[in-house]
Amino acid sequence: MTKQNRVRNVTENPCNMCMPMGAIVPFKGIENAMIIIHGSQGCATYMRRHMAEHFNEPIDVASSSITEQGTIYGGENNLKKGLENVMQLYKPELVGILSTCLAETIGEDLGRTASSFTREQGEGFTARLVPVSTPGYGGGHYEGYIQALYSIVVQLSQKTEKHDRINVFVPHISPADIREIKRILELMEIKYTLLPDISETLDSPYIQPYRRIPAGGTPLQEIEAMPGARATIEFMTMLEDELSPGKYLESEFGVPLYRLPLPMGIEACDELLRVLKKLSSKAVPEVIKKERGRLLDAMVDSHKYNGAGRAAVFAEPEVLYGVTRIMAENGILPAVLATGSKSPALKKLLQSLTADCDEKAIILLDSDFVSIQDHCANRKINLAVGNSDGRFISEQVGIPLVRIGFPIHDRIGGQRILSVGYNGTMMLMDRITNTLLAEKLSSYRQDMYQSLYKYPSAAANDH
Ligand code: SF4
Repeated sequence: MTKQNRVRNVTENPCNMCMPMGAIVPFKGIENAMIIIHGSQGCATYMRRHMAEHFNEPIDVASSSITEQGTIYGGENNLKKGLENVMQLYKPELVGILSTCLAETIGEDLGRTASSFTREQGEGFTARLVPVSTPGYGGGHYEGYIQALYSIVVQLSQKTEKHDRINVFVPHISPADIREIKRILELMEIKYTLLPDISETLDSPYIQPYRRIPAGGTPLQEIEAMPGARATIEFMTMLEDELSPGKYLESEFGVPLYRLPLPMGIEACDELLRVLKKLSSKAVPEVIKKERGRLLDAMVDSHKYNGAGRAAVFAEPEVLYGVTRIMAENGILPAVLATGSKSPALKKLLQSLTADCDEKAIILLDSDFVSIQDHCANRKINLAVGNSDGRFISEQVGIPLVRIGFPIHDRIGGQRILSVGYNGTMMLMDRITNTLLAEKLSSYRQDMYQSLYKYPSAAANDH
């Protein structure tokens, strides 16, 4: 049986990581916040290590360290002890409490423990505790991220006076991407509360003395005041309403919602600028117009090379959609599109985006890398774009990989990869086009001699 037609009943090398790991990220983007994982020590260690390798930063995440005894008699005491230690060592304004497979399986009630801990601390205790249910088997890191973001907004936002900021919700993108979105908002003279803001906390400058909780992040008071904003922009077009923080603020407090795709690709960037122009009543500044012009110029420069691209893309839903948009705009065939998440809305969006392509795209939800690799062989893929877990495809079948998304373990600088806005689109496109060019230039002489002069290939002489 060939690899292409084998039948598998198991997931091998899944395209996602566990739910609480994704839920850590939104809390890391809040000012003076800390996280505790309610579960065994190994869960927290795995998550710290994964995130530290990607962001190249220390990742402080506490653990309630449930042992055999806690598993049988309940882990509440461990969690309370862990919370006390966190308060003493870190003095946070907010603590995210995340469950794990073990905590959920033995029926731990995080909300009840958080309330009883707060009561026991007495009147002087002002820290906010935000419990989020994140069983590792309940979804991947994308679902954990969304669940945490939604819980933060629902649990912290309060009815408040109207003010002139807008709310901005972002999916899991790099600190560099967040800096770029903030720069565009500031150039458009828009006041905003962006959540979660990991631009400094997960990509800190070198400073002395060392801070246990890095500077930066969304201020807690601004999250509380989100219901008074004059609008919300949510860069998550495929979220279901019941998990959309923007939808929650709209239905509960009447904050108008603009749901936009990530600004990846010229059309999505233009869409964002149209909305910002409307919200600010300001013209687009010259500096942004020039960036758009440069992107157009880059598209003209690279289109003649991109036609050779037959791509597989694997990423979290919003990034996958953004990369596919860039490919569709630039003549690269998005042939295999995969994510570890289950998102029916994403499937529809990708189908409509690729409807005019020369070949129908294979769309894989809840996917694993073995399936992706099989489809790569069937579709004659010559370019992979995605996180570094796809490196095995490169190693085994020689398809070059352009790294984007999370996690990136085998290269430095995952936190600095810029892919949004006109500038980020241009940088990503250059990386993609140059990868195609490098592939072509590495073999074209031999191909040419063979076709023109019928020279025997090096492999044929290789006895
Ligand atoms: S999948 Fe479950 S057991 Fe594994 S690290 Fe995640 S929470 Fe822990």
